[in-house]
Amino acid sequence: MHTRFPNAWDVFIAGGGPAGLATAIAARRHGLSVIVADGAVPPIDKSCGEGLMPDGVEALQQLGVTIPEGYAHPFGGIRFVSHGMKAEAVFPRGTAYGIRRTHLHRVLVEYAAACGVRTLWQSAVTGLHPEGALVAGELVRARWVVGADGTSSRVRNWANIDPHEPDVYQSDVHQPDAHKLDVSRNKTLRFAFRRHYRIAPWTGFMELHWGSRSQVYVTPVARNEVCVALISFNPKLRLRIEDMLEEFPDLASHLKEAELASSERGAITVTRSLRRVYRDRSVLVGDASGGVDAITGEGLCLTFRQANLLGDCLASGNLARYQRGHRAMFRRPAFMAHMMLFMAKHSHLRQRAMQVFQSSPRSFAGMLAMHVGEGSARNHISNGIALGWELLKA
Ligand SMILES: Cc1cc2nc3c(=O)[nH]c(=O)nc-3n(C[C@H](O)[C@H](O)[C@H](O)COP(=O)(O)OP(=O)(O)OC[C@H]3O[C@@H](n4cnc5c(N)ncnc54)[C@H](O)[C@@H]3O)c2cc1C
Repeated sequence: MHTRFPNAWDVFIAGGGPAGLATAIAARRHGLSVIVADGAVPPIDKSCGEGLMPDGVEALQQLGVTIPEGYAHPFGGIRFVSHGMKAEAVFPRGTAYGIRRTHLHRVLVEYAAACGVRTLWQSAVTGLHPEGALVAGELVRARWVVGADGTSSRVRNWANIDPHEPDVYQSDVHQPDAHKLDVSRNKTLRFAFRRHYRIAPWTGFMELHWGSRSQVYVTPVARNEVCVALISFNPKLRLRIEDMLEEFPDLASHLKEAELASSERGAITVTRSLRRVYRDRSVLVGDASGGVDAITGEGLCLTFRQANLLGDCLASGNLARYQRGHRAMFRRPAFMAHMMLFMAKHSHLRQRAMQVFQSSPRSFAGMLAMHVGEGSARNHISNGIALGWELLKA
């Protein structure tokens, strides 16, 4: 077969988003030759809450990547706001950052280039081949093929990695018939929109506002800008940010004078784990390999941690180890996602939990510590029992 790419690479990566670039960097650190192909042009934007939790910052640092001054805005903790009640806690360790997706992408692209990663932009991956993968129909030879092509991964299907996966994810949230998605096949499929507002952050926290039909979270991303992301179960996609603000009077009062700094961008978000994440020489990473609901703010952290491990496992040729580690990493964020979705669905319980968090800030701090992977299992269990007891007393 004729090809523009005569060299054989150790690793071919489909998708140059956070997962693809992070994996490329990790593999280069082990001395592997790496080529990445993405259909888009950098810096790539995406609908995202743009919060990078302290454990995510640490996972990025383990890849050798630091966020340059001026690219991101620090925040010290999380605040929940629900029907007039507020609860907040600072992170037990480290700092989180709000960072525009385009800035994060720039940082990763530059670092990958400095590490010697070859990138092909505006280059869609069109299939797999026994000797590698096809980019716009042309063969790129590689020993390993990594699918870092996001939630609707085509590599996952081509490589037959998770044949049980419903094709609901192939739908595009922007399509007019997106409301016809068969949501019943996966209860945790949700719909999200994000938009930026030009306003100085009014708090040093990332805020999560709980409403009856949706949740909105606000991340400070610059000295004069916040990112607002709205997530709901509503498949009819009628819950756009502007329409929903009346349900969040506190938030609306902050945003009413603020200039819009970006257009609205939609996405689907879903919590799901795959039965396997590799087959033969093909392997998945990031959202392609499963993920957690956006409400957790843990997607990027999980992605960077997986990338770190995958680089190591590609170098040793042991993808079974990657699969085991991947499964273990997934448990905590998935548990948090299910817990938060439970709160989203059950307003009575949520309000009771908010009362407990408000009257006992330690219990909220304990939950936040668990969320970002800090503290011992013993602390988490005793905190969970104390919280459960307070809820039962309600
Ligand atoms: C609304 C929303 C809010 C979120 N908020 C947060 C948050 O605050 N904090 C957080 O940590 N996480 C958050 N997440 C999760 C986070 O965005 C994802 O976990 C992260 O983007 C995963 O990165 P990825 O590289 O796996 O996928 P993506 O970012 O989707 O990148 C996939 C890449 O693959 C490319 N691609 C796809 N198909 C092909 C093809 N055939 N050929 C070539 N290229 C291809 C695409 O162009 C894209 O660049 C949020 C998600 C959503 C939806």
